[in-house]
Amino acid sequence: MRTILPGAFAALLLSVAVAGEQQPPHWSYRGEHGPTHWAQMDPGFSTCALGRVQSPIDIRNALKADLPEIDFAYSAGPAEVLNNGHTVQVNLPASGGIAIAGVNYALLQFHFHTPSEERIAGMAMPMVAHLVHKSAAGQLAVVAVLFKQGRENPALANVFATLPAEGGKYRLADSFDPSRILPVKRGYYAFEGSLTTPPCSENVRWQVLKEPLEVSGEQLAAFRALYPMNARPTQPLNGREVLESRN
Ligand SMILES: [Zn+2]
Repeated sequence: MRTILPGAFAALLLSVAVAGEQQPPHWSYRGEHGPTHWAQMDPGFSTCALGRVQSPIDIRNALKADLPEIDFAYSAGPAEVLNNGHTVQVNLPASGGIAIAGVNYALLQFHFHTPSEERIAGMAMPMVAHLVHKSAAGQLAVVAVLFKQGRENPALANVFATLPAEGGKYRLADSFDPSRILPVKRGYYAFEGSLTTPPCSENVRWQVLKEPLEVSGEQLAAFRALYPMNARPTQPLNGREVLESRN
């Protein structure tokens, strides 16, 4: 121990601390850094294990209810496509938002999971897009759009044509209109939940649209070449009510 200079030892500790700050724990979807270990990887991730209102869920026995319509007010705007090491995300800083029961939520970004994280009566779809919104008060609201395999999705063609490698990002040459990745019918399931990725923060309002869109096998394969599986397992309901719109 005497051979280690105090100054050098302090510098070593500092470099470890700085490295720790720059690199958050690399959680993943499988193995030792998979979902059942997220809470142990960082004190800030404890809600992933201790939370009682976690997402995703298996949607079953939903109660039909007079849910308010989701008022979509999306518009075309600039889009940045990035690969954050967990998914491909499209940031939309100026593409409008939604209103639910008189509360406005600005659209921030959407991203993909394969298979869909949410299940309906136990069944997952090949892919889901999560459109993430935030109110002025800081409340998060996610709209989930499910995708089944079928024809090529033209709205996603330019994004899927150039999926960035991990850590990469670029700005789409054309503007992107998120209303093009909404189904015609806007009926939905509603429930309280959380982020489905660390830190698994709760108080997230979930709306899962019932009508799926289509995506081609080639488009799915392009995404799965980067992320073969990036879905958190379903979480216990713990007494939560799942509501279903009548339309
Ligand atoms: Zn998501």
